[in-house]
Amino acid sequence: MSLTGKQVTILGAGRSGRAAAALALREGACVAVWDSAGPEAFHQLPPEVAAHPHATAEQGTGVHSDLLIISPGIDTYGPYATAFASHAGELLGEVELAARYYAGRIVGITGTNGKTTTTELIGRILAAAGLGGNPCGNYGVPFAEVVMLPEPPAAVALELSSFQLETIRTLHPQVAVWLNFAPDHMDRYPTVEAYQQAKLRIFENQSAGDTAVVRVGEPLPPFAAHRVSFSTTEPATAWFSDGTIVHRHGEPVLDLTRDTGLRGRHNAENAMAAMAACEALGVSLEVMVAALHGCAPPPHRCELIRTLDGVEYLNDSKATNLHSLESALRSQTRPVVLLAGGKEKGLDYTPVLPLLREKALACVTFGQIAAPLAALFSAAVTTRQATNLAEAVPLARALAPRGSSILLSPGTSSFDQFHGYEERGETFRTLVNQLR
Ligand code: ADP
Repeated sequence: MSLTGKQVTILGAGRSGRAAAALALREGACVAVWDSAGPEAFHQLPPEVAAHPHATAEQGTGVHSDLLIISPGIDTYGPYATAFASHAGELLGEVELAARYYAGRIVGITGTNGKTTTTELIGRILAAAGLGGNPCGNYGVPFAEVVMLPEPPAAVALELSSFQLETIRTLHPQVAVWLNFAPDHMDRYPTVEAYQQAKLRIFENQSAGDTAVVRVGEPLPPFAAHRVSFSTTEPATAWFSDGTIVHRHGEPVLDLTRDTGLRGRHNAENAMAAMAACEALGVSLEVMVAALHGCAPPPHRCELIRTLDGVEYLNDSKATNLHSLESALRSQTRPVVLLAGGKEKGLDYTPVLPLLREKALACVTFGQIAAPLAALFSAAVTTRQATNLAEAVPLARALAPRGSSILLSPGTSSFDQFHGYEERGETFRTLVNQLR
């Protein structure tokens, strides 16, 4: 696709917007970036780019472009993007633009949870195999930045959110990883089905020579790629683990407990998905096992911060939906005092009650949904309500006997009180480290 002399409009001056702008410039386009924020949002843009701060939907209806690139944080179907799209030849996301200029192989990773952990593991294995495997997309650096490297890698580990998949056209992963699916983002999608349809687009450009790595039990429509399955419940599956040892076609190949920091069935799923994906690119078992030696999930994913008075403090701030909260609870071997709460995302937490009864001694809720969550959880366990984390941590400490764990696994996003899950996790870390 030649962009020479084309008018490219980019919505969003964040990192992916900047990367798209740089790539479009490289390809000879006339580039304009629009953002609803003020001029301070534009300071890192190349000088050739026309900057339009304080952008509005009203302005958008008057903007004509050959190509409109929208950032994943902007609702594709909302009035703002729709206005800019009204006079645009084509609407794409930054990952689609990048894919059009990438000649290497793409391992695409999607799912409601586990994407980042799996992307990291795949990146690690592909790097060890000499294929590059740069983690990018929804995690790491924007794909367009990788594409613009002087020597782009032979393969990338491309994390794909539903928002990014909404705006692909030709993006073709040679290997597509489908980790799991559960309700999420109900503040942006009209229905759970709409969210699932967006994610399913990961398979749409695959053909019979490609591979789809899929968890057993995922109800998926038919797709063209060759399917490789992994499971923590069906021992006859190509890749199987009970959470401790990974088996490939029945043969034990990796002891997760002894050789890695990956704990719980959900992390066994991530490890198996990563190995199955890399094997599809021809990486040997020996290289994969060696590459995974000593690896652990990234921070904020059931991360042990401290043990104080016999109580473990675990930071799972990345649990931004019910499904990840459930997987964190399920993987606990000690009784739990759960810290949960944050932004109202329209999720129904009723399904977690049986697991709370099984795993939790008590709960402390905080943030915007503290009150409704406390009302619901108190039907299952002792529950206290706090305004924020600073109030919640001492309450949890008072409820946690020696031998238990205090688990921050909020079950929703953090934007009611923080700029993101990292800030929430770091706040928790500071509060925990201050305890005497
Ligand atoms: P994502 O990038 O999809 O948000 P992460 O790897 O960052 O995934 O993990 C997000 C949260 O989900 C963490 O709280 C983690 O403990 C949990 N988690 C990780 N892998 C899985 C999985 N395969 N299934 C369910 N939950 C998971």
